[in-house]
Amino acid sequence: MKEDCIFCKIANGMISSTTIYENSDFKVILDVSPASKGHTLILPKEHFDNIFDMDADTAGKLFSLAAAVARALKQATNCDGMNIVQNNGEIAGQTVFHFHMHLIPRYEGDQVQVTWNPGTATQEELNEIAAAVKKEL
Ligand code: AMP
Ligand code: ZN
Repeated sequence: MKEDCIFCKIANGMISSTTIYENSDFKVILDVSPASKGHTLILPKEHFDNIFDMDADTAGKLFSLAAAVARALKQATNCDGMNIVQNNGEIAGQTVFHFHMHLIPRYEGDQVQVTWNPGTATQEELNEIAAAVKKEL
């Protein structure tokens, strides 16, 4: 638990939330300001600021839970699609600095925006960044 972290308090039951699912590692809640009907957040109970400091075990469990929650949400809402979004750092739009994953059901004609403008890169630039990342893995 990190002092003054609202999602630590929610994940560990010290602040109430609309909870969909809970196990020993995660709490799954509804976002209080939903982008669409059924907007859901998956919170680890342990505090990680963001993806960069999450351990591999938690990260692995997270995605299998995300897949199960996505299927349940789809069944429950009858949505037409879903965005799974996860912001890391202020520049990336993170506002609560306890790791969380968004599951945002999408409906035909909705006004939700999860988007970016396609850019351009030369093959040389692609090769360069690929080689740099490869070295780190
Ligand atoms: P992000 O911008 O990725 O950090 O997302 C933070 C999300 O947390 C936003 O979608 C907020 O609406 C949501 N949020 C903030 N406080 C609460 C809360 N007490 N209960 C549920 N969701 C919250
Ligand atoms: Zn926290």
